Amino acid sequence: MRLAVSGVVLVALLASACRREPEVAPRTAPPNVLLISIDTLRADRLGSYGYRLPTSPRIDRLAEQGVRFDDATVPWPRTWPAMASMLTGTYPATNGVAFRPRRPLPRENETLAEALGAAGYATGAVVANVNLGRRFGFDQGFDHFVESWVDPTRSRSESDDEKLLPGRVKASTNATKVTDEGIALIESLARREAFFVWLHYLDPHGPYRPPAKYETLWRDEYVRRDVPIHRVPRYQWQYRDGEPIVDLGHYEAQYDREIRYVDDEIARLLEHLERRGLSEDTLVVLTADHGELLNEHREFLRHGTSPYQPEARVPLVLALPGRLPAGRVVDQPVGLVDLKPTILELVGRAPNAATQGRSLVPAIDGTAPPSEFVFLESGWTEPSQLAVRKGRWKLVQLRAPRDRRRFRRETWELYDLGGDPAEQNDVLRDHPRVAAELRAALRRWRETTPRYAGSSDEPELLDEQTRAMLRALGYADAHVERARPAPSE
Ligand SMILES: [Zn+2]
Repeated sequence: MRLAVSGVVLVALLASACRREPEVAPRTAPPNVLLISIDTLRADRLGSYGYRLPTSPRIDRLAEQGVRFDDATVPWPRTWPAMASMLTGTYPATNGVAFRPRRPLPRENETLAEALGAAGYATGAVVANVNLGRRFGFDQGFDHFVESWVDPTRSRSESDDEKLLPGRVKASTNATKVTDEGIALIESLARREAFFVWLHYLDPHGPYRPPAKYETLWRDEYVRRDVPIHRVPRYQWQYRDGEPIVDLGHYEAQYDREIRYVDDEIARLLEHLERRGLSEDTLVVLTADHGELLNEHREFLRHGTSPYQPEARVPLVLALPGRLPAGRVVDQPVGLVDLKPTILELVGRAPNAATQGRSLVPAIDGTAPPSEFVFLESGWTEPSQLAVRKGRWKLVQLRAPRDRRRFRRETWELYDLGGDPAEQNDVLRDHPRVAAELRAALRRWRETTPRYAGSSDEPELLDEQTRAMLRALGYADAHVERARPAPSE
């Protein structure tokens, strides 16, 4: 232990000896924090990440105004473990949110809202995914917490009945509603010293049904090709003349239109900040909880199970005028577990001792690289797949899960994302030394990451209505349906 600490001190001394002047300007007063997370948003469908269609003009402008991380990886490509990691700065294995039985975020974790609340911030959130609701503990630390699918003007039974219909959950909320509620929240909080507002948009999550005015966007831009519709999750199916649409191009177009719709709503949100004179003193952070496999690795229109880039790589943009360098792009791989310590450093606060992520501020200002390795787990009901990144390399371990036929094999794969971003060519045999280094790093991480040691007989907190809502969103799994047979898909 003594040796390890000495090593850390030595590295820190060496780093400070050759340190460049940081480009992150010194803080004068703590800025407001606006965290925008967008469900199911692949980085590579945004213009600033190289997409061919103008799906994201406002997000792209935000990237020009601030720092864009080109290679950000989620710790687990599912909604609640990903957001739990971002909000606590800890891995799912440690914070205890991801394991069976499905349990809320354990209270002993310190959330970003709690850390900022302790620093005097007024805190509020608007979430549009039921997996991030009060029931799952994501309200922890917030003074105000809005579940945007709840309609206060309707009776409880009426609005609940609507949500029980498969595919209708998104009818209860949308980006317009989240922006409206977000603006109202900002208005109510901005009177105080500083605010932290978290908005979680749901719209690119299936079923992809953008508002009517987006339905004709880019109509001729997609190649028509058939998708094996029975490999597509049922909640994604759309119909024409009573028959399921099997054209993958249709679904891709609808996905892109959902992104443009959210982008327009983010534009409206940020315009409001500008009109109110809050832009200059608000740290805006934009990211996503995971991506989506549209037509990769023989998977269609789904997320949550694979360790591959369409699910793992998400946008990450931070903007704070006058303090973060405009137009900076960080190319090195980073993990979203680093988000909380990064935000805390930018508002002048230190993370708590339990934090496993590391601030990305030194990577932004060029004084130190981000963590050498970035880790990812994935799987439907267990961490069946693992991946580790270092630079251009990505090592994948496919283990033998009990919950998915698709990956019922144990194997290792190595990808050189520099030349093969689509992970088409497994180069494990060509680079045994790289593979061995990454394998050792993964093993070390698995062995040294503390496991959540909560009670194994915690009560199951999902009632039947919540299970039905989750099923309607495509979360029909063993977490939700413990007493039911696993879905045959
Ligand atoms: Zn999600």
